[in-house]
Amino acid sequence: MGKYVIIGNGVTGTRAAEVLRGQQPDAEITLMTEEDYPFYRRPQLPDFVAGKVAGAALWGKRSEFYDRERLELRLSCRVESVDADAGKVRLASGEEVGYDSLLVATGRQVDGGGLPGEKLDGVVCLKTLDQAKALRESGGEGRRAVVYGDGLVALEMVRALAGAGFATTYAVPGPRIWPDVLDEDAADIAAARLRAAGAELVTGSPAERVAGTDGRARALVLANGTELEGEVFGVCARYRPALSFLPGDGGAFAVAEDLTTPWEGIWAAGDVTSDPSRGYFNWLRSWREGAAAGVAMAGGAVEPADKLDLLNMQIYGLSLVAIGKTTVAYRSGFSEMRGEYPYGEFYKKLVFDPDDVLVGAVLLGGIAEAGALEEAIRGRTKKADLDAGLLHQMFDRTYRTEYLGVQCPVCRHEIQLSPGAAAGDLVTCPICGVDFRLERGQGAAFVAKIAR
Ligand SMILES: Cc1cc2nc3c(=O)[nH]c(=O)nc-3n(C[C@H](O)[C@H](O)[C@H](O)COP(=O)(O)OP(=O)(O)OC[C@H]3O[C@@H](n4cnc5c(N)ncnc54)[C@H](O)[C@@H]3O)c2cc1C
Repeated sequence: MGKYVIIGNGVTGTRAAEVLRGQQPDAEITLMTEEDYPFYRRPQLPDFVAGKVAGAALWGKRSEFYDRERLELRLSCRVESVDADAGKVRLASGEEVGYDSLLVATGRQVDGGGLPGEKLDGVVCLKTLDQAKALRESGGEGRRAVVYGDGLVALEMVRALAGAGFATTYAVPGPRIWPDVLDEDAADIAAARLRAAGAELVTGSPAERVAGTDGRARALVLANGTELEGEVFGVCARYRPALSFLPGDGGAFAVAEDLTTPWEGIWAAGDVTSDPSRGYFNWLRSWREGAAAGVAMAGGAVEPADKLDLLNMQIYGLSLVAIGKTTVAYRSGFSEMRGEYPYGEFYKKLVFDPDDVLVGAVLLGGIAEAGALEEAIRGRTKKADLDAGLLHQMFDRTYRTEYLGVQCPVCRHEIQLSPGAAAGDLVTCPICGVDFRLERGQGAAFVAKIAR
């Protein structure tokens, strides 16, 4: 028994609460969120803004879930500070709530990273349902939008705004889209997709400021002097853990492998623990870490936290899975294995360390082998020991397909299918629970269509 408080009602906090309830049937469990909504599926927000899905498709849990699991859900409840010595959280309302165990599952905030003008009206983000609703209601037809920055949210904002009808320009600071994850060939495929979706790409100059008139943003000004004019500006320059309520603003915050923090009785899990220097967000890892946190808070032993980078997303309808190390520096001793085929809509690459151990993979367009590759990377498999059938399937396009996979249309988890899987089959995503049907995609690949 005990009093458990979970700050954050995203996938991490929700999964932690669910697992914790299984372990502690009689405990008092409170979930707090500064937002006004029960758990919803954040990766669906771009499709919601673009009008491709209705609001109902967003809900991950409804009120019956909280009733059944006896979870107290406190909405619009912002935590301002934590007194770790007294075991209390202080809310924006001034109320204090005591805890025996506390989980910090507050995710990451995206902002302009101190870019002058980032607070002007018209500078927006796409992290929450309220922000998505405002963008959807504003309508994009006949209006211009500019998105700036690298990383998942920047790319998702371009997709959302272009999909909503905005004439959208995407400015990236470097020579190509998301150089942390995509090499030149993969970035070219993504850029072609983006242009086909009607967006314009501007590369090679960091932003200097957002210029405004009468408090309203007017143009994104780049360091090379270019001014990109618009009415809506999505500025995604910094991905920061949301920790300001912790002692010392969370500045000295380090999460151990068992998800404990420097403060007794406080755990942390999910996106809030991600490397702040990278534009990574990760639903699947958050889901797994949330479950581990539930076990840890109940006093159970957990596996060391899984820090393998694992990105599952879609770039304009192209499934992307990036696992571990995905780009290789010149003369680093690392090597790549790629197919000889022309990179049209399809790109597969393996990355090996100087000892020929598989340390990374990028799959764009066809992601069927992702599960097997993740396993091989975790198992530190050497090049010579990789399954020949797997390599043939990846790099010899005439080879019979043995590995079958499909990406969940909601959380982008890549699901391995049984060899007998066929078009029309109904599949339930084990991570977010959405039901979808398999449809034939390119070649032997399947694509998912949400079942109505
Ligand atoms: C537009 C978009 C598209 C995405 N697409 C993909 C994708 O394709 N694939 C993928 O893997 N991932 C994707 N993601 C990322 C994925 O949604 C995140 O990895 C996941 O939501 C992280 O879960 P989390 O619970 O750790 O944090 P979050 O979902 O960020 O939840 C944090 C919670 O903390 C609460 N909170 C924060 N601060 C406070 C406070 N002070 N007081 C009270 N409550 C607080 C918030 O209200 C929220 O409930 C996407 C994200 C966005 C925004």
